[in-house]
Amino acid sequence: MLTFENTEIAFRYKSNSDLTRARFLFRTIANPTLVKFGKSLTYFALKMHLPIAWAIKPTLYKHFVGGETLGECEKTVQLLSKFKVKSILDYSVEGGKDRSSMQRTLDETIRSVIHAARHPNIPFAVFKPTAFASQEVLTLASENAVNGEETQKSIDFFCDCVELLCKTAFENDIPIMIDAEDSWYQPFVDQLVTKMMEKYNKQKAIVYNTLQMYRTDRLDYLKEALRKAEEGNYYLGMKFVRGAYMEKERWRASEKGYPSPIQPDKAATDQNYDDGIEFSVAHLDRISIFNGSHNEVSNRLLTEQMEKLGLARNEPKIWFSQLYGMSDHISFNLASEGYNVAKYMPFGPVKSVLPYLIRRAEENTSIAGQTGRELSLIMKEIERRKIGK
Ligand SMILES: Cc1cc2nc3c(=O)[nH]c(=O)nc-3n(C[C@H](O)[C@H](O)[C@H](O)COP(=O)(O)OP(=O)(O)OC[C@H]3O[C@@H](n4cnc5c(N)ncnc54)[C@H](O)[C@@H]3O)c2cc1C
Repeated sequence: MLTFENTEIAFRYKSNSDLTRARFLFRTIANPTLVKFGKSLTYFALKMHLPIAWAIKPTLYKHFVGGETLGECEKTVQLLSKFKVKSILDYSVEGGKDRSSMQRTLDETIRSVIHAARHPNIPFAVFKPTAFASQEVLTLASENAVNGEETQKSIDFFCDCVELLCKTAFENDIPIMIDAEDSWYQPFVDQLVTKMMEKYNKQKAIVYNTLQMYRTDRLDYLKEALRKAEEGNYYLGMKFVRGAYMEKERWRASEKGYPSPIQPDKAATDQNYDDGIEFSVAHLDRISIFNGSHNEVSNRLLTEQMEKLGLARNEPKIWFSQLYGMSDHISFNLASEGYNVAKYMPFGPVKSVLPYLIRRAEENTSIAGQTGRELSLIMKEIERRKIGK
């Protein structure tokens, strides 16, 4: 059975001082009060235009982000590739506000698509829908409630951006993934991504949608997507994740008085996730799988299913992925066993990646004073190096 316990393999790319710094970081963010305070302070500093980069850049940013530009990520991309771990460079600008900043994001994302296509160690390109339209606009489009010329123009701009990115990916023969965000504007994103798949996935999966398996409707959605793909004779690319916005989803549902779209508990999400993966492995002739998870059980299950079906470990239609700065024990142990692995590596200016960094800090905050998994693994490796075992 595949285990992820080998911390020597997991952290071979980290020097002793990298590990000491990581231990300090995870110890700090383990404190929920400190994270809460840090979050409020950061948003306050941003509002008042106070400088915050000096505090964030050498700490959270350095650990979880590749750099400000594609070029700045290169050193890390090369380093990971020495251990057969590839990288996916994600221009992590969230919630674009005005047209000119969205245009800049589009230009940078196109550069990242072409950069990926030319780079042997970058197997996918990626973008977020809200980089090219506001949540409000996408929500109106999802509710078929577009009213007014300005909103229509924003929707047209969004559709043009998505089309241009998918077309560039197709022409450069590099798969492209579209992240999933909030459920209430996903219907419009799903419609558009499906159109892109119909157009660009005729030979193989170039365009990948994202399925958040904490949603109760996603398994049925996957089955229906497969039916449509078979009927329309195109291929499905699916990135599986559990989903990052559970609290917000539940809060909005209760606020607006509709049933929560989220699974009732963690066990139900886990089951749904694994069912989705199992279904897709059984339909690999039509579905390409991108397994975006830090869950050891789900990662192991997928390797076991591959083995059961006699698939090669480096089967091109199956990729494993974890976020840069997290779960190295899964990524590096899988890669060392011959599976396709890529780290999701955000890049961008400090201010733009703050929402992403705050999510990472909150995710690693300790519950009831327990030592988190990342911190335990880092401490285990520091100890192992000390005694030279
Ligand atoms: C490569 C990659 C790409 C990603 N892209 C996206 C993306 O596009 N969109 C996105 O939303 N997220 C994305 N994520 C984040 C992802 O959705 C998860 O938040 C994160 O990976 C934690 O889930 P896990 O599978 O790693 O495992 P675990 O740590 O085992 O699971 C934690 C997850 O389980 C679910 N959960 C926890 N408690 C409950 C509960 N009480 N009831 C129901 N469900 C519960 C939540 O989804 C929570 O995030 C990505 C993650 C990776 C690794």
